Amino acid sequence: MKAIRGATTVAKDCPEDIRESVKELLDCIFSENNLRLDEVVCIMFSSTADITSFYPAKAAREAGYARFPLYSSSEPAIEGALARCIRVMILVERSKAVKHIYLREAKMLRKDLSRTLNIAIDGPAGSGKSTVSKIIAERLGILYLDTGAMYRAIALKCVRENADYADKDVVRNLIENIDIKVDYCNGAQVTLLDGEDVSSQIRTPQVSLLASYVSAYSFVRTKMVDLQREIAAKFSCVLDGRDIGTNVLPDCEFKFFLTADSAVRAKRRHEENISKGITQSFDDVLKDIEERDFHDRNRAVAPLKQAKDAQVIDTSEMTIDQVVSAILTKVEEKI
Ligand code: C5P
Repeated sequence: MKAIRGATTVAKDCPEDIRESVKELLDCIFSENNLRLDEVVCIMFSSTADITSFYPAKAAREAGYARFPLYSSSEPAIEGALARCIRVMILVERSKAVKHIYLREAKMLRKDLSRTLNIAIDGPAGSGKSTVSKIIAERLGILYLDTGAMYRAIALKCVRENADYADKDVVRNLIENIDIKVDYCNGAQVTLLDGEDVSSQIRTPQVSLLASYVSAYSFVRTKMVDLQREIAAKFSCVLDGRDIGTNVLPDCEFKFFLTADSAVRAKRRHEENISKGITQSFDDVLKDIEERDFHDRNRAVAPLKQAKDAQVIDTSEMTIDQVVSAILTKVEEKI
């Protein structure tokens, strides 16, 4: 048995708006999960204390979700709670992973029940971290923090200033006056360098390689790690990187380390580059990946390595869906 969660808000506390929001939420949960009515064991709703005009369970029945027991309950008034929010839990008879759905700003669990959920996904370049992390964040309705983008932004600054990245003092001086921030636009991370959106400029092969050099400086890492910890403390998020489980969030409850054969990783990165219009031969991609691996694994500060308590997943022979399912199964056992 699995529980699918969801939530939405209603514009006004009136039967019409409640009917509309409940139908929209259930339609979306059923279609996103390819859920059949005969898989459902029961549906339970809870709504904030400011919803009194109509029962969500009645709205569900009217919308055709009527073959199973339906329950509605009212939550106590909680200070700071989201206004006019309806939450649902659908118990289903299935073993495969489920997708939780949060609509109309109803992203988070109730304040008094929620805890910040952080998931650390580390691994070398091309192991599938970013693709998988984005999907997991979306499925769980939490943020995705691409920590590599921060090191890439510093590398881009070096390129732009024509700075000698091998000179520690030059890089130190540069990062003292640098402003790196991350923002979110429709759930996607936007990386800001001195206020400018550089999300696509940081993806070139030159920046990739340079990021691996500048990220080895301890003063660079201290500044970035502080920012990463600050974000992780405030928001539930999936963080992908090299040292999240070992250094950034050593007490994180969920740690995964993705690996894959270097030729497989180079093939993935080569295909990704082609799709982005970046021209680089397969041999050069492989060489860059191996060079980056070497730097990342052998630097003195926070090198790339798996945390002792991380679950290692070799993705060489796995599809993205299989990796996502393996991680979600582990996480959903506990949340
Ligand atoms: O993950 P991505 O390939 O974007 O990372 C670029 C570089 O940034 C890596 O090769 C690594 O040197 C550095 N990095 C790091 N620690 C992280 C994330 C990335 O050192 N947490």
